[in-house]
Amino acid sequence: MQNSSSSQFCLIIILFVFVVTQETTETYSMNTKDVSNTADEILLKTNNDIGYLLDIIKKRDPHQDEFYQAVEEIIRSLEPVFAKVQSQEPEEKIQRSTFLNTYKKYIKVMEQILEPERIIQFRVAWVDDKGNKQINRGFRVQFNSAIGPYKGGLRFHPSVDLSIIKFLGFEQIFKNALTTLPMGGGKGGSDFDPKGKSENEVMRFCQSFMIELSRHIGMNVDIPAGDIGVGGREIGYLYGMYKKLSSKFEGVLTGKGRNWGGSFIRPEATGYGLIYFTNNMLQANAKSIKGKRVLVSGAGNVAIYCVEKLLMEGAIPLTMSDSKGTLYVESGIDKELFQEVVELKNVQRGRLSQLEGRVGVKYFEGKKPWNIPADIALPCATQNEINEEDARNLINNGVWAIAEGANMPSTPKAQQIFLNNNVLYGPAKAANAGGVAVSGLEISQNALRLNWSREEVDQKLQAIMKKVFEACEKAAKEYGKDGNYMAGANIAGFLKVANSMIEQGWI
Ligand code: NAP
Repeated sequence: MQNSSSSQFCLIIILFVFVVTQETTETYSMNTKDVSNTADEILLKTNNDIGYLLDIIKKRDPHQDEFYQAVEEIIRSLEPVFAKVQSQEPEEKIQRSTFLNTYKKYIKVMEQILEPERIIQFRVAWVDDKGNKQINRGFRVQFNSAIGPYKGGLRFHPSVDLSIIKFLGFEQIFKNALTTLPMGGGKGGSDFDPKGKSENEVMRFCQSFMIELSRHIGMNVDIPAGDIGVGGREIGYLYGMYKKLSSKFEGVLTGKGRNWGGSFIRPEATGYGLIYFTNNMLQANAKSIKGKRVLVSGAGNVAIYCVEKLLMEGAIPLTMSDSKGTLYVESGIDKELFQEVVELKNVQRGRLSQLEGRVGVKYFEGKKPWNIPADIALPCATQNEINEEDARNLINNGVWAIAEGANMPSTPKAQQIFLNNNVLYGPAKAANAGGVAVSGLEISQNALRLNWSREEVDQKLQAIMKKVFEACEKAAKEYGKDGNYMAGANIAGFLKVANSMIEQGWI
Protein backbone atom coordinates (compact mmCIF):
# COMPACT_ATOMS: atom_id res chain seq x y z
CA MET A 1 0.00 0.00 0.00
CA GLN A 2 2.71 2.37 1.04
CA ASN A 3 4.75 1.34 -2.02
CA SER A 4 1.91 2.08 -4.43
CA SER A 5 1.19 5.52 -2.93
CA SER A 6 4.85 6.48 -3.04
CA SER A 7 5.11 5.37 -6.68
CA GLN A 8 1.94 7.38 -7.45
CA PHE A 9 3.59 10.36 -5.74
CA CYS A 10 6.76 9.87 -7.84
CA LEU A 11 4.66 9.65 -10.99
CA ILE A 12 2.90 12.92 -10.15
CA ILE A 13 6.26 14.61 -9.54
CA ILE A 14 7.65 13.30 -12.84
CA LEU A 15 4.51 14.45 -14.68
CA PHE A 16 4.71 17.86 -13.01
CA VAL A 17 8.36 18.29 -13.95
CA PHE A 18 7.57 17.19 -17.49
CA VAL A 19 4.68 19.67 -17.83
CA VAL A 20 6.72 22.54 -16.38
CA THR A 21 9.69 21.74 -18.60
CA GLN A 22 7.44 21.53 -21.64
CA GLU A 23 5.83 24.85 -20.78
CA THR A 24 9.17 26.62 -20.36
CA THR A 25 10.42 25.12 -23.59
CA GLU A 26 7.26 26.15 -25.42
CA THR A 27 7.47 29.69 -24.11
CA TYR A 28 11.10 30.59 -24.38
CA SER A 29 13.27 28.12 -26.22
CA MET A 30 14.88 29.02 -29.50
CA ASN A 31 13.41 25.82 -30.94
CA THR A 32 13.03 24.97 -34.57
CA LYS A 33 9.40 23.88 -34.53
CA ASP A 34 7.37 24.70 -37.59
CA VAL A 35 5.16 27.72 -37.22
CA SER A 36 2.22 28.74 -39.30
CA ASN A 37 2.04 32.39 -40.19
CA THR A 38 -1.35 33.39 -38.92
CA ALA A 39 -1.35 36.86 -37.40
CA ASP A 40 -2.45 35.49 -34.00
CA GLU A 41 0.32 32.93 -33.81
CA ILE A 42 2.92 35.48 -34.79
CA LEU A 43 1.64 37.89 -32.14
CA LEU A 44 1.68 35.16 -29.50
CA LYS A 45 5.21 34.10 -30.37
CA THR A 46 6.37 37.72 -30.45
CA ASN A 47 4.87 38.33 -27.01
CA ASN A 48 6.66 35.23 -25.73
CA ASP A 49 9.92 36.54 -27.14
CA ILE A 50 9.39 39.92 -25.49
CA GLY A 51 8.67 38.16 -22.19
CA TYR A 52 11.80 36.06 -22.64
CA LEU A 53 13.98 39.18 -23.07
CA LEU A 54 12.42 41.10 -20.17
CA ASP A 55 12.78 38.07 -17.90
CA ILE A 56 16.53 38.13 -18.51
CA ILE A 57 16.74 41.58 -16.91
CA LYS A 58 14.30 40.71 -14.13
CA LYS A 59 16.38 37.67 -13.20
CA ARG A 60 19.85 39.15 -13.60
CA ASP A 61 19.30 42.70 -12.37
CA PRO A 62 16.09 42.69 -10.32
CA HIS A 63 16.73 46.07 -8.67
CA GLN A 64 17.72 48.09 -11.72
CA ASP A 65 14.38 49.86 -12.25
CA GLU A 66 15.56 52.62 -14.60
CA PHE A 67 17.50 50.15 -16.74
CA TYR A 68 14.46 47.86 -16.93
CA GLN A 69 12.27 50.82 -17.93
CA ALA A 70 14.61 51.82 -20.77
CA VAL A 71 14.89 48.22 -21.99
CA GLU A 72 11.14 47.63 -21.88
CA GLU A 73 10.42 50.74 -23.96
CA ILE A 74 12.73 49.60 -26.73
CA ILE A 75 11.76 45.95 -26.69
CA ARG A 76 8.04 46.71 -26.88
CA SER A 77 8.68 49.12 -29.77
CA LEU A 78 10.50 46.34 -31.60
CA GLU A 79 7.44 44.10 -31.66
CA PRO A 80 6.79 44.81 -35.40
CA VAL A 81 10.45 43.99 -36.20
CA PHE A 82 10.28 40.68 -34.34
CA ALA A 83 6.90 39.90 -35.91
CA LYS A 84 8.16 40.66 -39.42
CA VAL A 85 11.07 38.28 -38.98
CA GLN A 86 8.68 35.62 -37.66
CA SER A 87 6.42 36.00 -40.67
CA GLN A 88 9.39 35.52 -42.97
CA GLU A 89 10.57 32.46 -41.11
CA PRO A 90 9.47 29.61 -43.39
CA GLU A 91 11.73 30.90 -46.19
CA GLU A 92 14.62 31.19 -43.77
CA LYS A 93 14.04 27.80 -42.21
CA ILE A 94 16.24 26.00 -44.70
CA GLN A 95 19.23 28.12 -43.78
CA ARG A 96 18.85 27.81 -40.03
CA SER A 97 22.23 26.20 -39.58
CA THR A 98 24.05 29.51 -39.92
CA PHE A 99 23.81 32.22 -37.29
CA LEU A 100 23.20 34.89 -39.89
CA ASN A 101 19.87 33.42 -40.91
CA THR A 102 19.03 31.75 -37.70
CA TYR A 103 15.51 31.55 -36.34
CA LYS A 104 14.67 34.67 -34.33
CA LYS A 105 17.95 36.38 -35.14
CA TYR A 106 16.90 39.76 -33.75
CA ILE A 107 15.72 38.25 -30.46
CA LYS A 108 19.12 36.65 -29.98
CA VAL A 109 21.00 39.81 -30.92
CA MET A 110 18.88 41.82 -28.46
CA GLU A 111 19.86 39.32 -25.77
CA GLN A 112 23.48 40.04 -26.73
CA ILE A 113 22.92 43.83 -26.60
CA LEU A 114 21.30 43.68 -23.15
CA GLU A 115 24.56 42.62 -21.54
CA PRO A 116 27.12 45.48 -21.53
CA GLU A 117 30.47 44.62 -23.07
CA ARG A 118 32.21 45.86 -19.92
CA ILE A 119 31.30 47.51 -16.61
CA ILE A 120 33.96 49.34 -14.61
CA GLN A 121 33.16 50.37 -11.04
CA PHE A 122 35.76 52.03 -8.87
CA ARG A 123 36.50 53.88 -5.64
CA VAL A 124 37.16 57.61 -5.83
CA ALA A 125 39.08 58.83 -2.78
CA TRP A 126 39.55 62.57 -2.29
CA VAL A 127 40.04 65.09 0.50
CA ASP A 128 37.69 68.04 1.11
CA ASP A 129 38.70 71.60 2.04
CA LYS A 130 38.45 70.85 5.75
CA GLY A 131 40.89 67.95 5.40
CA ASN A 132 38.18 65.27 5.73
CA LYS A 133 38.77 62.07 3.73
CA GLN A 134 35.88 61.36 1.33
CA ILE A 135 34.91 58.29 -0.70
CA ASN A 136 32.63 58.23 -3.74
CA ARG A 137 31.76 55.56 -6.26
CA GLY A 138 32.75 55.89 -9.93
CA PHE A 139 31.29 54.03 -12.94
CA ARG A 140 31.91 53.57 -16.62
CA VAL A 141 29.66 51.23 -18.57
CA GLN A 142 31.12 50.37 -21.98
CA PHE A 143 27.89 49.09 -23.40
CA ASN A 144 28.28 48.48 -27.09
CA SER A 145 31.03 49.08 -29.65
CA ALA A 146 29.37 47.55 -32.74
CA ILE A 147 29.46 50.76 -34.78
CA GLY A 148 32.31 52.72 -33.17
CA PRO A 149 34.25 53.45 -29.97
CA TYR A 150 32.15 53.85 -26.82
CA LYS A 151 30.72 57.36 -26.56
CA GLY A 152 28.52 58.93 -23.90
CA GLY A 153 28.60 61.39 -21.04
CA LEU A 154 29.61 61.38 -17.40
CA ARG A 155 27.00 62.30 -14.77
CA PHE A 156 27.91 63.59 -11.31
CA HIS A 157 24.79 63.52 -9.13
CA PRO A 158 23.98 61.94 -5.74
CA SER A 159 21.32 59.72 -7.37
CA VAL A 160 23.85 58.00 -9.65
CA ASP A 161 24.00 54.22 -9.32
CA LEU A 162 24.53 51.32 -11.72
CA SER A 163 20.87 51.26 -12.80
CA ILE A 164 20.97 54.94 -13.84
CA ILE A 165 24.26 54.55 -15.69
CA LYS A 166 23.06 51.39 -17.45
CA PHE A 167 19.80 53.01 -18.55
CA LEU A 168 21.70 55.99 -19.93
CA GLY A 169 24.31 53.78 -21.62
CA PHE A 170 21.64 51.55 -23.16
CA GLU A 171 19.75 54.55 -24.59
CA GLN A 172 23.03 55.97 -25.85
CA ILE A 173 23.67 52.94 -28.10
CA PHE A 174 20.59 53.64 -30.21
CA LYS A 175 20.83 57.43 -30.02
CA ASN A 176 24.37 57.33 -31.36
CA ALA A 177 23.28 55.00 -34.16
CA LEU A 178 20.65 57.57 -35.22
CA THR A 179 23.22 60.37 -35.55
CA THR A 180 24.71 58.70 -38.68
CA LEU A 181 28.18 58.98 -37.04
CA PRO A 182 30.38 55.99 -36.08
CA MET A 183 29.93 55.96 -32.29
CA GLY A 184 29.20 53.08 -29.93
CA GLY A 185 27.32 53.52 -26.65
CA GLY A 186 28.68 54.11 -23.14
CA LYS A 187 27.98 56.17 -20.05
CA GLY A 188 29.63 56.85 -16.72
CA GLY A 189 29.64 59.03 -13.66
CA SER A 190 29.67 59.17 -9.92
CA ASP A 191 27.39 59.74 -6.92
CA PHE A 192 29.56 62.82 -6.15
CA ASP A 193 27.46 66.00 -5.80
CA PRO A 194 29.26 69.07 -7.20
CA LYS A 195 26.63 71.35 -5.58
CA GLY A 196 27.97 73.30 -2.64
CA LYS A 197 31.55 72.16 -3.28
CA SER A 198 34.37 74.67 -3.72
CA GLU A 199 36.34 74.98 -6.97
CA ASN A 200 39.25 73.15 -5.35
CA GLU A 201 37.04 70.31 -4.14
CA VAL A 202 35.54 69.85 -7.61
CA MET A 203 39.05 69.88 -9.11
CA ARG A 204 40.43 67.34 -6.62
CA PHE A 205 37.45 65.04 -7.15
CA CYS A 206 37.78 65.20 -10.96
CA GLN A 207 41.49 64.47 -10.74
CA SER A 208 40.98 61.45 -8.51
CA PHE A 209 38.13 60.19 -10.73
CA MET A 210 40.37 60.43 -13.81
CA ILE A 211 43.28 58.59 -12.17
CA GLU A 212 41.19 55.41 -12.47
CA LEU A 213 39.09 56.26 -15.55
CA SER A 214 42.19 57.04 -17.63
CA ARG A 215 43.13 53.34 -17.69
CA HIS A 216 39.93 52.50 -19.57
CA ILE A 217 39.46 55.29 -22.13
CA GLY A 218 41.26 56.57 -25.23
CA MET A 219 40.47 58.41 -28.46
CA ASN A 220 39.92 55.10 -30.29
CA VAL A 221 38.47 53.24 -27.31
CA ASP A 222 36.02 55.31 -25.28
CA ILE A 223 35.44 59.08 -25.42
CA PRO A 224 33.38 60.46 -22.50
CA ALA A 225 31.65 63.88 -22.40
CA GLY A 226 29.46 65.84 -19.95
CA ASP A 227 25.96 65.25 -18.59
CA ILE A 228 24.15 66.37 -15.41
CA GLY A 229 26.72 67.94 -13.05
CA VAL A 230 29.53 67.72 -15.61
CA GLY A 231 29.98 70.86 -17.71
CA GLY A 232 32.94 72.72 -19.21
CA ARG A 233 34.60 73.22 -15.80
CA GLU A 234 34.61 69.51 -14.92
CA ILE A 235 35.67 68.44 -18.44
CA GLY A 236 38.65 70.82 -18.09
CA TYR A 237 39.85 69.27 -14.81
CA LEU A 238 39.28 65.75 -16.12
CA TYR A 239 41.15 66.47 -19.35
CA GLY A 240 44.07 68.10 -17.52
CA MET A 241 44.59 64.99 -15.39
CA TYR A 242 44.25 62.62 -18.37
CA LYS A 243 46.92 64.59 -20.24
CA LYS A 244 49.27 64.51 -17.26
CA LEU A 245 48.84 60.77 -16.74
CA SER A 246 49.11 59.76 -20.39
CA SER A 247 51.52 62.42 -21.67
CA LYS A 248 49.22 62.68 -24.68
CA PHE A 249 47.26 65.61 -26.09
CA GLU A 250 44.47 63.69 -27.76
CA GLY A 251 40.72 64.01 -28.22
CA VAL A 252 39.83 61.67 -25.39
CA LEU A 253 36.97 63.81 -24.07
CA THR A 254 34.45 66.00 -25.87
CA GLY A 255 32.96 69.26 -24.65
CA LYS A 256 36.51 70.60 -24.28
CA GLY A 257 37.28 74.33 -24.09
CA ARG A 258 37.47 76.13 -27.44
CA ASN A 259 41.17 76.93 -26.94
CA TRP A 260 42.22 73.33 -26.42
CA GLY A 261 40.39 71.19 -28.99
CA GLY A 262 36.74 71.90 -28.28
CA SER A 263 34.25 72.40 -31.08
CA PHE A 264 32.13 75.45 -31.75
CA ILE A 265 28.45 74.79 -30.88
CA ARG A 266 29.19 71.82 -28.56
CA PRO A 267 27.82 73.64 -25.48
CA GLU A 268 24.73 74.68 -27.46
CA ALA A 269 24.33 71.40 -29.37
CA THR A 270 21.75 69.48 -27.30
CA GLY A 271 19.45 72.47 -26.78
CA TYR A 272 19.78 73.76 -30.36
CA GLY A 273 19.47 70.22 -31.74
CA LEU A 274 16.27 69.74 -29.75
CA ILE A 275 14.71 72.75 -31.46
CA TYR A 276 15.97 71.62 -34.89
CA PHE A 277 14.36 68.21 -34.30
CA THR A 278 11.14 69.86 -33.08
CA ASN A 279 11.07 72.09 -36.18
CA ASN A 280 11.34 69.03 -38.43
CA MET A 281 8.61 67.23 -36.50
CA LEU A 282 6.28 70.25 -36.66
CA GLN A 283 6.97 70.91 -40.35
CA ALA A 284 6.17 67.29 -41.21
CA ASN A 285 2.79 67.92 -39.58
CA ALA A 286 2.19 71.28 -41.29
CA LYS A 287 2.92 73.31 -38.15
CA SER A 288 5.60 75.78 -37.03
CA ILE A 289 7.22 76.77 -33.74
CA LYS A 290 6.99 80.54 -34.33
CA GLY A 291 4.73 82.28 -31.82
CA LYS A 292 4.06 79.05 -29.90
CA ARG A 293 3.95 79.05 -26.10
CA VAL A 294 6.52 76.60 -24.76
CA LEU A 295 7.08 74.99 -21.35
CA VAL A 296 10.73 74.18 -20.64
CA SER A 297 11.98 72.33 -17.55
CA GLY A 298 15.54 72.52 -16.24
CA ALA A 299 17.97 75.44 -16.12
CA GLY A 300 21.14 73.58 -17.00
CA ASN A 301 23.09 73.13 -20.20
CA VAL A 302 20.27 71.65 -22.28
CA ALA A 303 17.50 73.95 -21.02
CA ILE A 304 19.56 77.14 -21.39
CA TYR A 305 20.44 76.60 -25.05
CA CYS A 306 16.95 75.30 -25.77
CA VAL A 307 15.49 78.59 -24.49
CA GLU A 308 18.12 80.60 -26.38
CA LYS A 309 17.12 78.89 -29.65
CA LEU A 310 13.40 79.28 -28.90
CA LEU A 311 13.97 83.04 -28.60
CA MET A 312 15.92 83.04 -31.88
CA GLU A 313 13.02 81.22 -33.60
CA GLY A 314 10.35 83.63 -32.34
CA ALA A 315 8.74 81.12 -29.97
CA ILE A 316 7.62 82.10 -26.45
CA PRO A 317 9.39 80.22 -23.62
CA LEU A 318 7.16 80.43 -20.55
CA THR A 319 9.07 78.49 -17.91
CA MET A 320 12.43 77.20 -16.69
CA SER A 321 12.93 75.11 -13.54
CA ASP A 322 15.48 73.55 -11.22
CA SER A 323 15.18 70.86 -8.59
CA LYS A 324 13.66 73.37 -6.13
CA GLY A 325 10.91 74.94 -8.25
CA THR A 326 9.61 76.58 -11.43
CA LEU A 327 10.03 80.11 -12.81
CA TYR A 328 7.02 81.29 -14.87
CA VAL A 329 6.57 84.41 -16.97
CA GLU A 330 3.10 84.60 -18.53
CA SER A 331 4.18 86.96 -21.33
CA GLY A 332 7.29 84.84 -22.02
CA ILE A 333 10.89 84.87 -20.76
CA ASP A 334 12.60 87.71 -22.65
CA LYS A 335 16.27 88.02 -23.63
CA GLU A 336 17.10 90.15 -20.60
CA LEU A 337 15.68 87.73 -18.06
CA PHE A 338 17.21 84.82 -19.96
CA GLN A 339 20.69 86.41 -19.65
CA GLU A 340 20.11 86.76 -15.92
CA VAL A 341 19.27 83.05 -15.67
CA VAL A 342 22.48 82.17 -17.57
CA GLU A 343 24.58 84.35 -15.27
CA LEU A 344 22.82 82.95 -12.18
CA LYS A 345 23.26 79.32 -13.20
CA ASN A 346 26.62 79.31 -15.00
CA VAL A 347 28.56 81.92 -13.03
CA GLN A 348 26.95 82.28 -9.59
CA ARG A 349 25.71 78.64 -9.56
CA GLY A 350 22.61 79.90 -7.75
CA ARG A 351 18.91 79.00 -7.59
CA LEU A 352 16.03 80.21 -9.78
CA SER A 353 14.19 81.25 -6.61
CA GLN A 354 16.65 84.18 -6.43
CA LEU A 355 14.78 85.76 -9.39
CA GLU A 356 11.42 85.77 -7.57
CA GLY A 357 10.01 89.26 -7.19
CA ARG A 358 11.03 90.56 -10.65
CA VAL A 359 8.17 92.28 -12.51
CA GLY A 360 6.00 89.65 -14.22
CA VAL A 361 8.00 86.73 -12.80
CA LYS A 362 6.26 84.06 -10.73
CA TYR A 363 8.10 81.36 -8.84
CA PHE A 364 6.39 78.11 -7.75
CA GLU A 365 8.34 76.44 -4.97
CA GLY A 366 8.59 72.65 -5.30
CA LYS A 367 6.49 72.58 -8.51
CA LYS A 368 7.13 71.27 -12.01
CA PRO A 369 6.07 73.33 -15.06
CA TRP A 370 3.48 70.86 -16.40
CA ASN A 371 0.35 72.57 -15.06
CA ILE A 372 0.52 75.73 -17.17
CA PRO A 373 -1.47 76.30 -20.41
CA ALA A 374 0.83 76.07 -23.48
CA ASP A 375 1.28 74.56 -26.96
CA ILE A 376 4.55 72.67 -26.64
CA ALA A 377 6.48 71.07 -23.76
CA LEU A 378 10.24 70.47 -23.80
CA PRO A 379 11.42 68.55 -20.70
CA CYS A 380 15.15 69.27 -20.25
CA ALA A 381 15.89 68.35 -16.61
CA THR A 382 15.98 64.66 -15.71
CA GLN A 383 14.49 61.16 -16.01
CA ASN A 384 10.83 60.48 -15.13
CA GLU A 385 10.01 64.16 -14.60
CA ILE A 386 6.67 63.72 -16.45
CA ASN A 387 4.44 61.10 -14.85
CA GLU A 388 0.90 59.98 -15.75
CA GLU A 389 -0.75 62.89 -13.94
CA ASP A 390 1.63 65.44 -15.49
CA ALA A 391 0.91 63.99 -18.95
CA ARG A 392 -2.85 64.41 -18.42
CA ASN A 393 -2.32 67.95 -17.10
CA LEU A 394 -0.27 68.85 -20.17
CA ILE A 395 -2.94 67.62 -22.56
CA ASN A 396 -5.76 69.25 -20.55
CA ASN A 397 -3.81 72.51 -20.71
CA GLY A 398 -3.64 72.40 -24.51
CA VAL A 399 -0.17 70.96 -25.16
CA TRP A 400 -0.09 69.18 -28.54
CA ALA A 401 3.66 68.59 -29.07
CA ILE A 402 6.40 67.27 -26.79
CA ALA A 403 10.08 66.77 -27.54
CA GLU A 404 12.51 65.46 -24.96
CA GLY A 405 15.78 67.25 -24.23
CA ALA A 406 16.39 65.17 -21.10
CA ASN A 407 16.96 61.42 -21.18
CA MET A 408 13.81 59.34 -20.46
CA PRO A 409 11.90 62.28 -18.92
CA SER A 410 8.50 60.64 -19.49
CA THR A 411 7.36 57.54 -17.62
CA PRO A 412 5.96 54.68 -19.75
CA LYS A 413 2.38 55.61 -18.75
CA ALA A 414 2.98 59.25 -19.74
CA GLN A 415 4.37 58.11 -23.12
CA GLN A 416 1.26 56.01 -23.69
CA ILE A 417 -1.00 58.96 -22.88
CA PHE A 418 0.84 61.12 -25.44
CA LEU A 419 0.55 58.47 -28.13
CA ASN A 420 -3.11 57.70 -27.37
CA ASN A 421 -3.98 61.40 -27.60
CA ASN A 422 -2.14 61.99 -30.90
CA VAL A 423 0.34 64.35 -29.32
CA LEU A 424 3.37 64.87 -31.59
CA TYR A 425 5.97 63.11 -29.49
CA GLY A 426 9.73 63.40 -30.14
CA PRO A 427 11.47 60.79 -27.95
CA ALA A 428 14.73 61.58 -26.15
CA LYS A 429 17.04 59.31 -28.08
CA ALA A 430 16.18 61.18 -31.27
CA ALA A 431 15.28 64.67 -30.06
CA ASN A 432 18.36 65.18 -27.86
CA ALA A 433 20.86 63.46 -30.18
CA GLY A 434 22.34 66.85 -31.16
CA GLY A 435 24.74 66.88 -28.21
CA VAL A 436 26.42 63.63 -29.03
CA ALA A 437 26.28 64.47 -32.74
CA VAL A 438 28.45 67.57 -32.22
CA SER A 439 30.65 65.51 -29.90
CA GLY A 440 31.12 63.24 -32.93
CA LEU A 441 32.02 66.30 -34.99
CA GLU A 442 34.51 67.34 -32.27
CA ILE A 443 36.16 63.90 -32.57
CA SER A 444 36.42 64.37 -36.35
CA GLN A 445 37.98 67.83 -35.96
CA ASN A 446 40.49 66.53 -33.38
CA ALA A 447 41.45 63.65 -35.69
CA LEU A 448 41.93 66.07 -38.60
CA ARG A 449 43.64 68.63 -36.31
CA LEU A 450 41.30 71.25 -37.76
CA ASN A 451 38.67 73.61 -36.38
CA TRP A 452 35.49 74.11 -38.34
CA SER A 453 33.74 77.47 -38.14
CA ARG A 454 30.66 78.04 -35.99
CA GLU A 455 28.48 78.26 -39.10
CA GLU A 456 29.91 75.04 -40.52
CA VAL A 457 29.25 73.05 -37.33
CA ASP A 458 25.77 74.52 -36.96
CA GLN A 459 24.91 73.57 -40.55
CA LYS A 460 26.14 70.03 -39.98
CA LEU A 461 24.09 69.82 -36.77
CA GLN A 462 20.96 70.97 -38.60
CA ALA A 463 21.55 68.41 -41.35
CA ILE A 464 22.07 65.62 -38.80
CA MET A 465 18.90 66.46 -36.85
CA LYS A 466 16.94 66.43 -40.12
CA LYS A 467 18.32 62.97 -40.90
CA VAL A 468 17.54 61.78 -37.36
CA PHE A 469 13.92 62.89 -37.75
CA GLU A 470 13.63 61.36 -41.22
CA ALA A 471 15.02 58.03 -39.96
CA CYS A 472 12.37 57.94 -37.19
CA GLU A 473 9.60 58.91 -39.59
CA LYS A 474 10.64 56.33 -42.22
CA ALA A 475 11.08 53.41 -39.84
CA ALA A 476 7.73 54.15 -38.16
CA LYS A 477 6.00 54.13 -41.55
CA GLU A 478 7.79 50.99 -42.76
CA TYR A 479 6.76 49.01 -39.68
CA GLY A 480 3.12 50.11 -39.60
CA LYS A 481 3.48 52.74 -36.85
CA ASP A 482 3.05 55.88 -38.94
CA GLY A 483 3.54 59.05 -36.83
CA ASN A 484 4.87 57.11 -33.82
CA TYR A 485 8.36 58.61 -33.72
CA MET A 486 9.19 56.72 -30.53
CA ALA A 487 8.74 53.39 -32.28
CA GLY A 488 10.56 54.78 -35.33
CA ALA A 489 13.59 55.92 -33.30
CA ASN A 490 13.85 52.60 -31.49
CA ILE A 491 13.47 50.53 -34.66
CA ALA A 492 15.90 52.57 -36.80
CA GLY A 493 18.55 52.71 -34.03
CA PHE A 494 18.19 49.03 -33.21
CA LEU A 495 18.37 47.76 -36.80
CA LYS A 496 21.63 49.61 -37.49
CA VAL A 497 23.31 48.22 -34.36
CA ALA A 498 21.77 44.74 -34.60
CA ASN A 499 22.73 44.23 -38.25
CA SER A 500 26.29 45.39 -37.50
CA MET A 501 26.50 42.93 -34.62
CA ILE A 502 25.21 40.07 -36.75
CA GLU A 503 27.87 40.86 -39.38
CA GLN A 504 30.57 40.83 -36.69
CA GLY A 505 29.58 37.41 -35.29
CA TRP A 506 28.57 36.04 -31.89
CA ILE A 507 31.06 37.74 -29.57
P1 NAP B 1 22.77 70.13 -16.03
O1 NAP B 1 23.47 71.21 -16.76
O2 NAP B 1 23.41 69.57 -14.81
O3 NAP B 1 21.30 70.65 -15.67
C1 NAP B 1 20.35 69.80 -15.12
C2 NAP B 1 19.11 70.61 -14.79
O4 NAP B 1 18.08 69.72 -14.40
C3 NAP B 1 19.31 71.57 -13.62
O5 NAP B 1 18.50 72.67 -13.79
C4 NAP B 1 18.86 70.72 -12.43
O6 NAP B 1 18.43 71.49 -11.33
C5 NAP B 1 17.70 69.98 -13.03
N1 NAP B 1 17.52 68.71 -12.32
C6 NAP B 1 18.44 67.75 -12.13
N2 NAP B 1 17.93 66.75 -11.40
C7 NAP B 1 16.65 67.11 -11.14
C8 NAP B 1 15.57 66.51 -10.45
N3 NAP B 1 15.72 65.30 -9.88
N4 NAP B 1 14.40 67.17 -10.40
C9 NAP B 1 14.24 68.37 -10.99
N5 NAP B 1 15.22 69.01 -11.66
C10 NAP B 1 16.39 68.38 -11.74
O7 NAP B 1 22.48 68.87 -16.98
P2 NAP B 1 22.17 68.88 -18.55
O8 NAP B 1 23.44 68.57 -19.25
O9 NAP B 1 21.39 70.09 -18.91
O10 NAP B 1 21.27 67.58 -18.67
C11 NAP B 1 19.85 67.63 -18.51
C12 NAP B 1 19.24 66.38 -19.13
O11 NAP B 1 19.59 66.31 -20.51
C13 NAP B 1 19.72 65.06 -18.53
O12 NAP B 1 18.65 64.13 -18.60
C14 NAP B 1 20.81 64.63 -19.48
O13 NAP B 1 21.04 63.24 -19.44
C15 NAP B 1 20.21 65.07 -20.80
N6 NAP B 1 21.16 65.25 -21.90
C16 NAP B 1 22.22 66.09 -21.77
C17 NAP B 1 23.08 66.25 -22.84
C18 NAP B 1 24.22 67.22 -22.80
O14 NAP B 1 24.87 67.39 -23.83
N7 NAP B 1 24.49 67.87 -21.69
C19 NAP B 1 22.88 65.53 -24.02
C20 NAP B 1 21.78 64.70 -24.11
C21 NAP B 1 20.92 64.56 -23.05
P3 NAP B 1 19.41 71.65 -10.07
O15 NAP B 1 20.53 72.52 -10.56
O16 NAP B 1 18.58 72.27 -9.00
O17 NAP B 1 19.87 70.26 -9.71
